[in-house]
Amino acid sequence: MTSIGLCWIRRDLRLHDHAALSQCTLENDVVHIVFIFDDAILGPIKSKVTSDKRVQFICESLIEINQVLVAKGGSLWIRHGNPVDEIPKLAHELGADRVYFNRDYSPYAIRRDTLVSDRIIGEGREVYSFKDHVVFEPTEIVKPDTTPYRVFTPYSRAWISQLGGVHQLPTFPVILNGIGHGDRSDVLSDTESLLKFVGFEPDPTLFPGGSVEGLRRLSVFADGLSAYGTEREYPSRAGTSKLSVYLRHGCISIRDLVNVALNHPSPGAQKWLVELIWREFYQAIFYFSPWVNDRPFQDRYKGLVLTTSEDYLACFKAGMTGFPLIDAAMRCLNQTGWMHNRLRMVVASFVTKILLIDWKRGERYFSFKLIDYELQSNNGGWQWAAGIGCDAAPYFRIFNPTTQSKTYDPDGDFIREFCPELSRLNSQQIHCPASAKTLPESFKLGRDYPYPIVDYAVQRKKALAIYGSHRPD
Ligand SMILES: Cc1cc2nc3c(=O)[nH]c(=O)nc-3n(C[C@H](O)[C@H](O)[C@H](O)COP(=O)(O)OP(=O)(O)OC[C@H]3O[C@@H](n4cnc5c(N)ncnc54)[C@H](O)[C@@H]3O)c2cc1C
Repeated sequence: MTSIGLCWIRRDLRLHDHAALSQCTLENDVVHIVFIFDDAILGPIKSKVTSDKRVQFICESLIEINQVLVAKGGSLWIRHGNPVDEIPKLAHELGADRVYFNRDYSPYAIRRDTLVSDRIIGEGREVYSFKDHVVFEPTEIVKPDTTPYRVFTPYSRAWISQLGGVHQLPTFPVILNGIGHGDRSDVLSDTESLLKFVGFEPDPTLFPGGSVEGLRRLSVFADGLSAYGTEREYPSRAGTSKLSVYLRHGCISIRDLVNVALNHPSPGAQKWLVELIWREFYQAIFYFSPWVNDRPFQDRYKGLVLTTSEDYLACFKAGMTGFPLIDAAMRCLNQTGWMHNRLRMVVASFVTKILLIDWKRGERYFSFKLIDYELQSNNGGWQWAAGIGCDAAPYFRIFNPTTQSKTYDPDGDFIREFCPELSRLNSQQIHCPASAKTLPESFKLGRDYPYPIVDYAVQRKKALAIYGSHRPD
C-alpha cells in the first residue's frame, strides 16, 4: 500500500538539511509539503500595515521552494487560516498516514503544535516532531542538578562540551522523490501573486528570500570569517554575517552555520560560534521562564516603573532624537528591516536608561520592524540592555551614544548613510552637532536636524537613581 506523508514547514523554509522533511521522504512513498499562512500571526500585522518585509521574505522563499518542487514533478501546498484546523483538514483530504514538523520553542508555537498533534492523533494518524532549529534543545543543556542555567558563560561551556569535540554536525539529507501536487499553482506563480493571496502588497528588501541566497551569503561570509572578531563591532563595515534573517526563517539551517564555524581554525570563527550559542541560550531562558515575555528576568526589577513619554517614543521610532548614531540606527531599521548588533545594544540602552521608556515599548517596536525578529533573542537583547535580564549589563552600565559613535563609527560613514542631512558635517561635528564648536554655515541645528530631545547627563543621573533604588539590600 502507498504510504502518504505530510510535512508541515513553518520557520524552516528550505529543502536541504531538514530533519522533518528528511524523515518524511525516507518513510513515505508520496510526500506532500505544506505551508500555512497563520492568521494569528498575520492578523495583527495586517491591522496596522498593508505591506511587511517579513511577509515579502517568506513569500520569496516559498516561491523558490515551489520552483524546486515543480522541477521534481510536484508542488507546494499553501493554506491561509488557523493551522489547528488547516493541518488536520489537509491530512484528512490527502489521506496522510503521518504528519511531520520541526519543533519550535516559543510559547505560542508549543501550544499550537500540541493542539495540532492532539487532533491528528485523535483522527488515527501519526505525528512526528523533530529537533532541527537548534543544535541543543533547551532541556539538553542544564546544570548537573538539572536546573536551567541563568548565566551565559557556564551555559556556553556546557554547550561546547556537549558537542564532544566534533568538527562536523550530522545533517539531514533530503531526497525529493514522490512529491505530491498542491492545489494552488495559481497563487504560486510569483511573489506578487502569493502576497496578494495573503492580502499584502510588495515590499522588496535588501534580503532576497530563499536558500540559494542564504547559502551564497554564508559562503561569502565564511571567506572573511577570520576578521569577525575585530570587524564585528563596526556598523559601516561588512563585519557580521547578516545571516540572522536567513536563519530566522530557516532558509539556511543552524548546522550550515555551525559547521562553517567548526571547520574554520580562527579566533574569529570561535567568536562567531559564541554568538550562535547566545541564540540558543535565549531560547532556553524563554523556554524555562516564559514569563520573561512581560516581566524582568531579575525579580528585583519587577516593581520598576518607567513613565514612558509618548513624545520621546515617537522621536525614537522616527529616528529624530537629535542623537545622530541613535537616529541613523533607527532609520536603518525603518528602511531596511535590519540593525547591527552594536546599534541594537546602544539603542536599547538609550531607550530604557536615557529616554526612560518602558523596555516593552521598545521591544515591541523592534518586533514589528525586524525581518529577523526572533521572540527570544529580541526579548533577551532588550532585557540585557535594560539591565533587568539574565546575565544582563549592570544597571549602571549606560552606553553614551556620542562616545559609542566616535568609537564605532569614527568617520561618521554610517550616520551619513542614514541621516543624509548630516553629511555636510565633518567627522568631529557629526557625532554630536549640538556640542560642536562650529557647524557649516549652511547647516542650522533645529531646522536641518533636531536638537537633542534630552540632556544625556541629566537623564543618566535619573536612571541611576531609579534603577539603583531596585538594588538588592
Ligand atoms: C535589543 C536587541 C534585540 C535583538 N533582537 C534580535 C532578534 O529579534 N532576532 C535576532 O536574530 N537577533 C536579535 N538580536 C541579536 C543580534 O543583534 C542579531 O542576531 C544580530 O545583529 C544579527 O546579525 P548577524 O546575522 O550579522 O549576526 P552575526 O554577528 O553574524 O551572528 C551570527 C548569528 O548569531 C546569532 N546572534 C548573534 N548575536 C546574538 C545575540 N546577541 N543574541 C542572540 N543571537 C545572536 C544570530 O542568529 C546571528 O545571525 C538582538 C540584540 C539586541 C541587543
